Amino acid sequence: MQRRSFFKLAGLGTTAALGAPLVRGAERLIEKPGCVTEAAHAVPVAGEFDVIVCGAGPAGVAAALAAARRGAKTQLIEVHGCLGGIWTAGLLSWILDSSNKAGIMAELWKELEKRGARDMTSKGKGTNAYDTEAMKLMLEDLCTEAGVTVRLHTRVCAALKNAAGRIEHAITESKSGREAWRGKIFVDCTGEGDLAAQAGCGFDLGHPETKLTQPMTLMALVAGLVPSEITEYYHSEETASNWNATKDKLRAEMERGGHSPSYAKPTLFHIRDHLFALMTNHEYGVLGTSAADITRSTLQARKEINALLDGLRGLGGIWKNLRLVVTAEQIGIREGRRIHGLYTVTADDLREGRRHADAVCRATFGIDVHATDPKKLKSIEKAGFRTKAYDIPLRALIAKDVGGLMMAGRNISGDFLAHSSYRVTGNSVALGEAAGKVAATAAKTNRLPQDVKLDEAPS
Ligand SMILES: Cc1cc2nc3c(=O)[nH]c(=O)nc-3n(C[C@H](O)[C@H](O)[C@H](O)COP(=O)(O)OP(=O)(O)OC[C@H]3O[C@@H](n4cnc5c(N)ncnc54)[C@H](O)[C@@H]3O)c2cc1C
Repeated sequence: MQRRSFFKLAGLGTTAALGAPLVRGAERLIEKPGCVTEAAHAVPVAGEFDVIVCGAGPAGVAAALAAARRGAKTQLIEVHGCLGGIWTAGLLSWILDSSNKAGIMAELWKELEKRGARDMTSKGKGTNAYDTEAMKLMLEDLCTEAGVTVRLHTRVCAALKNAAGRIEHAITESKSGREAWRGKIFVDCTGEGDLAAQAGCGFDLGHPETKLTQPMTLMALVAGLVPSEITEYYHSEETASNWNATKDKLRAEMERGGHSPSYAKPTLFHIRDHLFALMTNHEYGVLGTSAADITRSTLQARKEINALLDGLRGLGGIWKNLRLVVTAEQIGIREGRRIHGLYTVTADDLREGRRHADAVCRATFGIDVHATDPKKLKSIEKAGFRTKAYDIPLRALIAKDVGGLMMAGRNISGDFLAHSSYRVTGNSVALGEAAGKVAATAAKTNRLPQDVKLDEAPS
């Protein structure tokens, strides 16, 4: 059996007597009313890696693939039982802002097409839809081929830094208990910036004034509909010029069935054959950083989806065979922490179409704020200006407050409005790919990410 090294968590010598202050390095742990204090214990080190990517959504998978392909010993850690994040556990089914992306994003589309997992138009062009189940296997195959070590069912719950403020270990919880993962460079792709927050990074969360975040939505897959009979209710070649009208018609049908959806613009995405994805609820006033909020939202959303679909089916006609296939394992969280980086992408960047010498992604998707306050609006808030295509610089992917830490995906450094644009998954993949490349070179050459250029491969 392999011998495992141990890391003593919190550096506590002995368990302190109840009520006495505990010491972690130079820091004092204050006993708080309503809290318990865990005793110090040794945590086994699960492995040592060049690059550790936390969170395996679109950004995390791309980061891990890019790092491993640059020769880095790469570990990918994911809390769910599959790779893909919102693409799979979240059943999103629709990829935005990907058509101008080369690299891994283009490769993923090609591979989906090869596997017959991308819906094609009558002109032989791919739509934005993909098969969520095929996506799971494809991402696993690609990671295996690239040599990424994958750990599923494992949640990152703490981070340990050295005296110089550089992150050295991520701590996880799983069926195997608590484990430590030693890395040279870490990439936080958890969406909520869990690793960075645990490491002590500064961050912003929600609207700058109200602190409210965009609502959560539970995606669902539905079947039993004949596409040619319901073209006016979903985004297709015929309705592409006025997608809004299809949403309004779908809402009217739901209301005729006896239920008004909490998202005023319910949307059907055609995936393939008779399979559709449905986005129809908004859970307001909840935080993606609160397990209680996520739980309440999930239960409410699942109840609403079932009621809406029962109502539609009850109308008979084109809806009579409508069936709920599955609701997502993970409710979709639009907004989490935006970790402070060496650069903050702002709404001004979008207004001016700003360019950067260290650009890693050209984002073209506009501002898309799902209304935070249902009393004012139940759909999308207007930005007040027209967005121009803009660059996201590498600096927005490098943590300001902690050494050796990068971010990719929706938790990079940006403001509330900018985030609502760059958060879509075509951009997440490009950001992940850039972070993975830079992390690999930094790790292999013993430098910090800010001292590395994107195209600089380790020699
Ligand atoms: C309802 C909804 C609809 C959307 N519609 C679209 C759309 O049509 N098209 C589009 O392109 N984008 C859309 N978006 C936006 C987009 O899906 C997200 O912004 C995108 O998921 C960002 O990718 P990511 O990799 O940063 O995050 P995520 O996909 O959220 O991935 C984060 C991953 O980290 C894992 N994780 C989280 N915490 C931990 C932890 N502590 N330890 C270990 N693992 C962890 C998660 O399980 C997940 O796999 C939508 C979002 C939502 C919520």
